[in-house]
Amino acid sequence: MTIFKKIIDGEIPAEKYYEDDLCIAIKDINPQDEVHFLVIPKKEIKTIFDMSEDDEKLVGHLHFVWAKVAKDLGLEWCKMNFNVWEKWGQEVMHIHLHVLGNFK
Ligand code: AMP
Repeated sequence: MTIFKKIIDGEIPAEKYYEDDLCIAIKDINPQDEVHFLVIPKKEIKTIFDMSEDDEKLVGHLHFVWAKVAKDLGLEWCKMNFNVWEKWGQEVMHIHLHVLGNFK
């Protein structure tokens, strides 16, 4: 079980910006910019390469949610990315969107 599953299940605390039936958005514990949050689906999918066609809508939802949270936080500038596999920097094997941003 990954740390993100434990956060989703409420076993480990996190600063939550958003939650619905499909995903949560939390503050990254080790922010790499003024604002750094993660959008994590509740469904456990290891990497973006492990998605099935059934996950298409879910991934679209993650994009909807990151944009909503960024807007609600009042970010002036932001970028998002998925890290994929250890080789390219993915540490937690449960897909998550990183969003980094600034207020101005
Ligand atoms: P990645 O390298 O893409 O797998 O990124 C994992 C991210 O999860 C890193 O930016 C970590 O700082 C973050 N992280 C790890 N543990 C926690 C936690 N308990 N709460 C919030 N963010 C975390």
